[in-house]
Amino acid sequence: MRKIVIAGNWKMNKSVAESVKLAADVVAAAKGIKNVVVAIAPTYLALAKVADVVKGSNVKLAAQDVHWENQGAFTGKVSADMLKDIGVDMVIIGHSEQRSYFGETDETVNKKIKKVLSLDMGPIVCIGETLEERKAGKLESVLTTQVNGAYAGLSADDALRTVVAYEPVWAIGTGVTASDAEAQEAHALVRGLLAKLFGDDVAQSISIQYGGSMKPENAAGLLAQKDIDGGLIGGAALKADSFLGIVTPGE
Ligand code: 13P
Repeated sequence: MRKIVIAGNWKMNKSVAESVKLAADVVAAAKGIKNVVVAIAPTYLALAKVADVVKGSNVKLAAQDVHWENQGAFTGKVSADMLKDIGVDMVIIGHSEQRSYFGETDETVNKKIKKVLSLDMGPIVCIGETLEERKAGKLESVLTTQVNGAYAGLSADDALRTVVAYEPVWAIGTGVTASDAEAQEAHALVRGLLAKLFGDDVAQSISIQYGGSMKPENAAGLLAQKDIDGGLIGGAALKADSFLGIVTPGE
């Protein structure tokens, strides 16, 4: 049985004090939730304080990015060891904003995944096509390149410790969600790619989240799809009630 993973990507939002408050609200709202992994990803600046808030709760702490080196002259970057040290459980890797604005490549995604796994944290591996790519009929080729690049050199055991986030770029922050059928089609495709790499049993065990304007109003339809195992939520994760409204309490 695959896990449902609902993660809030707060992106570059919230001061430290606001992050602590939102984290406390999420912890309170998530109390009765079982059988769903709930995670929140504040900015680097707020991670340490939010770590104290989620400690001992059923809410996992995620970072929004990481560097693959241990330490050194990498101005502006934070290492996986540093994240591990303050209690980070999961790390978002290869987000489309990271790919389009900050030069993330499939190769750097792969290095980051390996580093994060080596420290026993869980990578959330983001993939997804742009509108131009989808219109040009390149959905399958783009996802194939991204999945093969991200998972290059990983063992089946490694792959089982990852979560994939399929985020069509055209649906991120736009208010436009992929239809249930469009999302399911892409998720099935991704699961097929994982099956080619690691076999069907492994592919069937990896959770694949949907991301892109997901909110309480459209979550039920998306989550009812056979290959959609949760969500990576941006805008709707900035308030505890809309974030947790995506998960049915007590589920
Ligand atoms: P929105 O939910 O704001 O569209 O953002 C999705 C996303 O990019 C999560 O990583």
